[in-house]
Amino acid sequence: MCRHLGWLGAPRSVASLVLDPPQSLLVQSYAPRRQKHGLMNADGWGAGFFDHGVVRRWRSDKPLWGDASFASVAPALSSGCVVAAVRSATIGMPIEASASAPFTDGQWLLSHNGVVDRGVLPPTGAAESTVDSAVLAALIFARGLDALADTIAEVGALDPNARLNILAANGSRMVASTWGDTLSMLRCPDGVVLASEPYDDDPGWSDIPDRHLVTVADSHVELTPLKGSV
Ligand code: GLN
Repeated sequence: MCRHLGWLGAPRSVASLVLDPPQSLLVQSYAPRRQKHGLMNADGWGAGFFDHGVVRRWRSDKPLWGDASFASVAPALSSGCVVAAVRSATIGMPIEASASAPFTDGQWLLSHNGVVDRGVLPPTGAAESTVDSAVLAALIFARGLDALADTIAEVGALDPNARLNILAANGSRMVASTWGDTLSMLRCPDGVVLASEPYDDDPGWSDIPDRHLVTVADSHVELTPLKGSV
């Protein structure tokens, strides 16, 4: 399982979210603390953010720890809405930059932490890659993010072994699901972090229960159980 992170709030540098914290995505790429599937996340990474409403992304098929250029530039990239991920490829999936989250439809940035059988997914438009996460992202984009809870419940019923932790943001809203893996939240005075695992030992982190949907808008957080939750 990959590890992902989202920020919605006041502008912050990408480095302050992804590289600087003591247990940042950078550290999680080689020493995650809560990862249940896979040992490390060395198969690529991606950082996306909104720049005056425009989606910008930097993705790679290499380990995050080896990217000195990104480490050099990331402190100068600042945004109020960031989605980033480090990847542990599922066996059989391609390793290419286009298979690294975040995926986009031009409006949303989306990361998938998990696995799904592509064969059960209803056909949709073109995906960015043949990786299961990109095919699932294309389906979620086609259905619309307002329907995320329904889409996850539907896919979860079609593939009972699927793990469907989704994290998506569009500049003014952030939504995330828990379906088979961990997710934690940190509410800061100037925004909200959602992350597969805490990036530091701040006692303010809280764990989101499995099979829930989190919606963040205007620093207001809503937590709702998903259909199919026990
Ligand atoms: N199945 C996806 C991939 O291969 C995501 C893997 C993960 O969450 N580790 O990239």
